[in-house]
Amino acid sequence: MLGAIEAGGTKIVCAVAPKEAITQVVERISIPTGTPQETMPKIITFFKNYQIEAIGIGSFGPIDVDPSSPTYGFITNTPKLAWKNFDFLGTMKKAFDVPYFWTTDVNAAAFGELKHGSAVGNENCIYITVGTGIGGGVVLNGKVIEGKGHPEIGHIYINQLTHDSFEGNCPYHKNCLEGLAAGPAIEARAGKPAQNLAADDPAWELEAHYLAEACVNYTLSFSPEKIIFGGGVMKQAHLFPLVREKFTELLNGYLPISQVDQYIVPCALQDNAGIVGCLALAEEIL
Ligand code: ADP
Ligand code: ZN
Repeated sequence: MLGAIEAGGTKIVCAVAPKEAITQVVERISIPTGTPQETMPKIITFFKNYQIEAIGIGSFGPIDVDPSSPTYGFITNTPKLAWKNFDFLGTMKKAFDVPYFWTTDVNAAAFGELKHGSAVGNENCIYITVGTGIGGGVVLNGKVIEGKGHPEIGHIYINQLTHDSFEGNCPYHKNCLEGLAAGPAIEARAGKPAQNLAADDPAWELEAHYLAEACVNYTLSFSPEKIIFGGGVMKQAHLFPLVREKFTELLNGYLPISQVDQYIVPCALQDNAGIVGCLALAEEIL
């Protein structure tokens, strides 16, 4: 059996699946993120019921992914203070002596989409979630990418449009992509939640512009075969044609991306991208 832990800011999902058929999840649980003291014992108890051979962990972050670092496997600079500098991987290793794949939740989701979702048949994809924040994972040549750290492609700076006077609400950068285009930014401008805006509200034009700028930057930086969007805000299906149109305009023919409707796409696995990705990463490490 393979194990998966998708650790999010509000809930932690654990799942087990047979290694021959990782999409056939045998059991899954969802635990409120709480504090490590409350939550880790529940995670460990869950996996104790199975003969686990490897575990994939996709965690909210930032996290330390540098194997040569003394804090490898720790959650580092999170605003969730109970988890700040918590040795997540080390705690799991003490409970189960198996191989682990340790990466970010969004890297795991990107890998899940590559293996079993919108990017099946590809080797290179980017997954971006646009929700309470904006986060993204990158898979190149079939591997999630990490350098000394991991990508944080939701916090890139983009060109703010002159008619948009919103100062941006990222606590670190104000008007980075997350600060201008995550759900709370849409809500702050409109005075109501994004899901309550009409499809023809001008807010979507602005949103699409910012997401398109980000797609151009990701295209130029990473050369993916697909850019896959998930998250609450992207439930607005009408955003996709708008983002594609602006993307084409902004890229301005510099690179030959012909079928843009198959390049910028919704995620196929929906809320399962992360957990499927963690299972696929467990399979990979085994
Ligand atoms: P989280 O990022 O917290 O995991 P979500 O991906 O659901 O959760 O993101 C929540 C954000 O997405 C909120 O800002 C909310 O207003 C926005 N949102 C949720 N559903 C929709 C929707 N159907 N259309 C537009 N925005 C939405
Ligand atoms: Zn930021």
